Amino acid sequence: MDKKKSFARGLLFAVLSAAMTLLASYIAYILDIPNPVIVLVIFMIGFTAGFGNIPGAVSAACIIFYALFFFSDDHNIISFSAENRYKCMVIILSLIAIYLLVALLKSRNDKTYASLVELNRKLKEQNHTLEDESDRDALTGIYNRRGGDRRVATCLSENKDRSFQAVFAAMDIDNFKQINDVYGHAAGDEAIQLLVTKMQEAFGGYSILIRNGGDEFQALLYGDSSEVMEKKVLSFADETFHMNSEGQEFDFHISCGYAFYPSQADNMSDLYHKADIALYDVKMSGKHKALPYTWTSDTRRPEQLTLTVSSLSNNLPVAFMIYRADDTEEILIASETLLTMCGCSSFDEFVAYTGGSFRGFVYPEDVTLVEQSIEAQIQSNKREIDEVDYRIRTRDGRIHRIRDLGRLIHDPGLGDLFYVALYDRDATNRTRDKHV
Ligand code: GH3
Ligand code: MG
Repeated sequence: MDKKKSFARGLLFAVLSAAMTLLASYIAYILDIPNPVIVLVIFMIGFTAGFGNIPGAVSAACIIFYALFFFSDDHNIISFSAENRYKCMVIILSLIAIYLLVALLKSRNDKTYASLVELNRKLKEQNHTLEDESDRDALTGIYNRRGGDRRVATCLSENKDRSFQAVFAAMDIDNFKQINDVYGHAAGDEAIQLLVTKMQEAFGGYSILIRNGGDEFQALLYGDSSEVMEKKVLSFADETFHMNSEGQEFDFHISCGYAFYPSQADNMSDLYHKADIALYDVKMSGKHKALPYTWTSDTRRPEQLTLTVSSLSNNLPVAFMIYRADDTEEILIASETLLTMCGCSSFDEFVAYTGGSFRGFVYPEDVTLVEQSIEAQIQSNKREIDEVDYRIRTRDGRIHRIRDLGRLIHDPGLGDLFYVALYDRDATNRTRDKHV
């Protein structure tokens, strides 16, 4: 197809050159221009340089024809006077020499141009390879931080519409220093490579995988619903990876924090930040699992991460609990202070005593009013905070008056939850009385 096209193009140029040279010859002849051959030679040089050798040669042939016509006796092209024969030969030979010279220069120029084009192509190719190499991690071949940042930024900016969903996961190998110390640095490297292979299998094509440095990795998953992508992350973090490095066998696992785009973070830096916060949460709460970002972690500073849930639970001046804001009202967390307030010595005992629900925690006669009051306040309150007083009965049969400050929170993993701070008004009054 290309050959046919270039032949047709060459033919067109040849015809064009012939037509234009003959037209120029005719005009030169009619107008009786002195030295017309010189004008025509300029035409020929132009056609050879611009259109190629064949159109140039056609143009030269036309000029030769014109010279024969112009110098022959009675323009019969065949018979010449002695003087004109000599002139005609000089013109024809000069024309051929000029044509050959121009054709030679043009062919050299074409070759130089072609080699420059080829050189440019190779340079571009090498540039591309170099750029790709500097965007990748040498040990695993996945993106390094620089390459990852660029790919994630491009992915998010190319998918601006609100229906696009992504999950960004920050991952870190648990106790990796120990692997290096016990099995050696080379075994540690192999563990990193194994993890990346497993990551590629688990997250597939619609993901950007990044080694952030050391034993830290990140993954942007997209191209599916949030629920499906979250499941992939959860099941990957649940895995135990088995390593066999030169006869040394060991298992390892990872911790993972993740955040949803755009529902939790609508830009790259916020997404990274929130996934990191969630990862801190996992590291602080026993490792080897994945947790989503929740707003409760947001205000935490690194030094605050050394505070454990149990230290908070023992030392806060108020009691707290978290329960589901659905029909079950299931209590998920109760602080030590709350257990003590109810006369229970463990969470199991507390669950057995209250039936594990907020409804079972409140004094039976107060339940309906309390639930209605909370519902009404939540409906009318833009800050989603409610305040309510009620009674509870402790395990040893005493009645205590409680003040309850609750907040309705939507947790992407657990659904709607009430976070509640409580204090015992009777105990507070007694303490205050003592100081009066
Ligand atoms: P944690 O569970 O809290 O994450 O504890 P950890 O022991 O994994 O601690 P951390 O993540 O801080 O340890 C990272 C270690 O990774 C420290 C460094 O010696 C090691 N490391 C960093 N880069 C490489 C590498 O390229 N190869 C190997 N084998 N080890 C590396
Ligand atoms: Mg680690």
